[in-house]
Amino acid sequence: MIRGAHGHPGKVGHMRVSDTGPRCDRGHTGCVSAFVTIPAVEHNAGGLPFDEVLVHARRGEEIPLRAVNDAIRALGVVIGNLTCIADVDKIIVTGEGLPIAQFDEALLAASVSEALDPAAEPPLLELHPFKFADYAWAAAVSAIRLVLST
Ligand SMILES: [Zn+2]
Repeated sequence: MIRGAHGHPGKVGHMRVSDTGPRCDRGHTGCVSAFVTIPAVEHNAGGLPFDEVLVHARRGEEIPLRAVNDAIRALGVVIGNLTCIADVDKIIVTGEGLPIAQFDEALLAASVSEALDPAAEPPLLELHPFKFADYAWAAAVSAIRLVLST
């Protein structure tokens, strides 16, 4: 677990991962939120609901498949950059959008590797099944860490 100067890890939601691409809701071009969030995937897939995006992408339909693959590549860039900066040995990927990472784990691993410094070791990627209670666990852990650090 990484703890930053302000008691939490850094925020990567609007990290730039591409010079081109869609804009996020804050107007950034090519930031991770413009590719990886569920609303972004739905938008980039032509407005399909998230579950349908995955169905159409599995059928190989161009626009949904591009939206999913772009999301996977963007996630890989973020993971690769984090690994370069923090030298972590394991990244746990979870959340409501986990099916994106699960869609093509080989593409995710390749995207991570492409973003890594040649001297960096690739992290172990753990795709953790998401349960809504994970939000509560994460909040509880953060609160306990905050109390213990003061
Ligand atoms: Zn953004």
